[in-house]
Amino acid sequence: MRHKDCIFCQIVHKEANAFYIHQDDLVTAFMDIHPINPGHVLVIPNVHTPDLAGLEAACGARIFTVGQRIAAALRGSELRADGVNFLLADGAAAGQEVFHLHLHVLARYEGDGFGFRRSGQIQREKQDLEGIAGMLRSVLE
Ligand code: 5GP
Ligand code: ZN
Repeated sequence: MRHKDCIFCQIVHKEANAFYIHQDDLVTAFMDIHPINPGHVLVIPNVHTPDLAGLEAACGARIFTVGQRIAAALRGSELRADGVNFLLADGAAAGQEVFHLHLHVLARYEGDGFGFRRSGQIQREKQDLEGIAGMLRSVLE
C-alpha cells in the first residue's frame, strides 16, 4: 500500500508538505516542488506504485481524467497556459527519479524553450518499422 521511505506516499498521507490541487479515493494532485513553468502539477496514485506495469487500470484512468481537468484549469485560470504536456517517465532510462509513479501536467507557454533534447544522430535508417510493429503486435495479442 505504502512505502515507508517514499516522499510521495508521505504527501498522499499528509505527512509531508505539499501544495495540493486535488485528492480522491484513487489519486492525489499537487504542485511540483521544482516547476519547469508556472503551472506544473503532479498526479499520483494514492497506493505506492513504482512503475507503469504495476498501475491498476482504474487508477490509470483516474490519473488521466484528473490530469485532463487540471490541463483545462491551466488553460482557463489566470495562468492562461498556451498548451499543456502530459509527461510520464517509466524507468530510470526514461528520466524517472521518484519511483512512485506520477503524471506531470505541465503548462506550456509560447517560446518557453522547454523540449526533449537528444545528443547524436537519430539513426532512422536502422529502424525497421515493420519488424518492430510485428514484435509489439505479438506481445499485445
Ligand atoms: P521524475 O523525473 O521522476 O519524472 O520527476 C520527479 C518530480 O518530482 C520532479 O519534477 C521533482 O521536482 C518532483 N519532486 C521531487 N521531490 C518532490 C517533493 O518532495 N515534493 C514535490 N512537490 N515534488 C517533488
Ligand atoms: Zn510511494
